[in-house]
Amino acid sequence: MKVTLLGTGDATGTPLIGCECPTCMDAHRGGKSRRLRFSVLVESDKGKVLIDTGPDLRQQMLENNIVHVDGVIWTHGHYDHYTGFAEFHRVQSNVDVYGITETLDYILDYLYFLKPIRHDVLMYEPFELIGLTFTLFEVKHPPVKKAVGVMICERNKKVVITSDAQKDIPPRSLELIQQPDLLVVDAIVPPTIKVKKHMNSVEAMALAKEIEAKEIVMTHLSHYFKPHDEESKILPLGYDGMVFHI
Ligand SMILES: [Zn+2]
Ligand SMILES: [Zn+2]
Ligand SMILES: [Zn+2]
Repeated sequence: MKVTLLGTGDATGTPLIGCECPTCMDAHRGGKSRRLRFSVLVESDKGKVLIDTGPDLRQQMLENNIVHVDGVIWTHGHYDHYTGFAEFHRVQSNVDVYGITETLDYILDYLYFLKPIRHDVLMYEPFELIGLTFTLFEVKHPPVKKAVGVMICERNKKVVITSDAQKDIPPRSLELIQQPDLLVVDAIVPPTIKVKKHMNSVEAMALAKEIEAKEIVMTHLSHYFKPHDEESKILPLGYDGMVFHI
């Protein structure tokens, strides 16, 4: 399978409006610190699935030449993870959307003017799409009551995407996501900045070690990291348009 990080930014994106820090200035100059909001594209030889649809989706579809998707999976009902879905409007109708019931209820209430085809999925129950097996697993991301990460398997290959998550991943999820070939992990800030809803970069590295991830890439990154070219010498930071062949 092929995994593309369409957007590696946090809810504000980088540059942050009005900010002149070195990272935002690098982003303004077109450096890899420029981060659109969260979306991941998963592809097989049978099709394309989007994990979340951030508000920058139109731009991401144009930049990555995405003209059709075979499904959308939503991890939770935060603005930066679903509002770009309306970018499909008049481009593609009858989109198949997947998620746990609480998430679909919330998002489809907001997107009431669109008519996607709804598929309610239970956590820990695998389902097939584009020849790949997807499993939603519980993560903690308060104040969201129920949020999920996504595990994607193809034969003996495994990709785990935490989406937005605190470090205390529930035991049942930890058991499921052991030894992934690739871990795409929420690491919103360096440990010098305090946040509760997400992992910082140290916690993300600890999770990767705990589950024995073969490869790790950090996403949902804020402007609190140093400019990408500098910080990525030390940390496995993702960047927009980064591709993995698993
Ligand atoms: Zn987010
Ligand atoms: Zn900044
Ligand atoms: Zn969130």
